[in-house]
Amino acid sequence: MTTDDLPPLTAIFYDGRSNRKRRVELRPGETIEIVEDGTVLASWIVDDIRVADGDMALRLSSVSAPPLARLEINDESIASRLRHFLPRLDETQEKRQTGRIVGWSLGAAGSIALMVVYGIPFAADRLAPHVPVNIEKRLGETVDRQFLNLTGAQTCTDGEGQKAFNQMIDKIKPQGGRPIEAQVLSLDTINAVALPGDKIYLFDGMLQKANSPDEIAGVMAHEIGHAHNRDVMRTLMQTGGRSFLLGLLFGDFTGSSAIIFVTQTLLDASHSREAETAADDFAVATMTRLKRSAVPMGEFLKRLSGDDTATIIDSHPVGSARLERIRQSDIPTTGSKLLSDEEWRALKVICSGAP
Ligand SMILES: [Zn+2]
Repeated sequence: MTTDDLPPLTAIFYDGRSNRKRRVELRPGETIEIVEDGTVLASWIVDDIRVADGDMALRLSSVSAPPLARLEINDESIASRLRHFLPRLDETQEKRQTGRIVGWSLGAAGSIALMVVYGIPFAADRLAPHVPVNIEKRLGETVDRQFLNLTGAQTCTDGEGQKAFNQMIDKIKPQGGRPIEAQVLSLDTINAVALPGDKIYLFDGMLQKANSPDEIAGVMAHEIGHAHNRDVMRTLMQTGGRSFLLGLLFGDFTGSSAIIFVTQTLLDASHSREAETAADDFAVATMTRLKRSAVPMGEFLKRLSGDDTATIIDSHPVGSARLERIRQSDIPTTGSKLLSDEEWRALKVICSGAP
């Protein structure tokens, strides 16, 4: 795919002088040109651009623009494309934030400090939902880099396959929740994982074993359930140890020895039995909302149980109770197909271009 085929880099722009919200297109080059209907409104110097905190894919300010001027990017794929043009973005952000406690309320920070000193894992249960978004995002990005390095995996983004996958995720993701970023990875392992920062990976190995879109949709909904219920942060806080908690407190994970441990923990993620049941319930509720049966997901996992290479089964054993619970929730499938046959075929080969 060439750059010409990609959709424009769209963003919301606040010029910092008025409250007006403008839909703009960003044209990166020596500077980032901010263009509205063909008119260049402003031009931001690349090295002056900083990350501004906010609950969206990417929110930017510039030290040489009015202090309240902001660029907001809601779309994860546009945000990641834009980051390529801003190679020093993370650097400047890290410098700015290292060494201070970012965004935690005093009470929550105090509780984390107690966990560090005394080790009180049950506090994780109550604190996990309160991890500031920007800290979880930074942790997620660090873990993501480490994860891709460790596994040598690449994200599969083949045009038609990606379109089909996005379409499926759009249908199953919760309405109005935090934005979910899901991607397929070129790994033969039969697995799917949720990383901190609402990022979910489906491994190609698992995709290849699936016989229908409903099987994959159910698995993805289960992982989205883990993200939605903050299970990822909870499990990490419970098992991550002191250096992880310190990283969490200071929002600084760069060079943290805890990160390798964290990545490993996520790869064979074992959430509590209660968390697994809740994630199953989330998947069932998702499929029910779409008027599709969740049973194919249960049957899919059951089928994989016989496969020794199915890593996902190690962390998600499919006992008869689990399958029975899913079966009991069954509704007749009356909703429209999540993907057409053609889209499903395109999704299945999404990684065929990957090495
Ligand atoms: Zn699970």
